[in-house]
Amino acid sequence: MKGAINMDFLVFDFLNSQCFNEKNNMDDATRKEKINDFLNYYHITLFDINSKQLSELYVLYNWIFELLEKITLHGNLTKEDMDKINLILQKEKATRQLIKKGKDYIIETKTKGSGLEHFIHEIVTSFAVTIAEYDQDRIRICENPQCKWVFYDKSKSKTKRHCDSRCANLMKVRRYRKKQLKD
Ligand SMILES: [Zn+2]
Repeated sequence: MKGAINMDFLVFDFLNSQCFNEKNNMDDATRKEKINDFLNYYHITLFDINSKQLSELYVLYNWIFELLEKITLHGNLTKEDMDKINLILQKEKATRQLIKKGKDYIIETKTKGSGLEHFIHEIVTSFAVTIAEYDQDRIRICENPQCKWVFYDKSKSKTKRHCDSRCANLMKVRRYRKKQLKD
């Protein structure tokens, strides 16, 4: 993970896990492992992901990526998108309670059903919070088409177009070659 660039946004981590990026050709076992990793990291109750749920997550992944692309391109979601988001936000399948474990207080989440709906709810909530409470002009998708890393541009000038210097250099070289071909 390119940790330094990434802030703790569940929705970014979900997309950057690249679980469903076809070019990666990840097998289902690796996908499940990756998903379980960040379920764990974000203290979301683990659930056994079966193949049907994996395909639901695939649909979610593509939809959320599309939403983020709309935000970065022109800052607008359609009414249809908004309705779909709000429907999911209204359907919380989990209850939270504060408990004490030894000296520490922790929030325990109990989910009804398989846990998948709660996970979808968390991802969509994270997306909504990210665009509502952070500067939406700073949300970026790396311009290297082979990379498409999602990140939050913390630079003063708000002009960061690539996730890191490697991608930036790669694109610079490509632009230079293109220009040379034209001349
Ligand atoms: Zn990149």
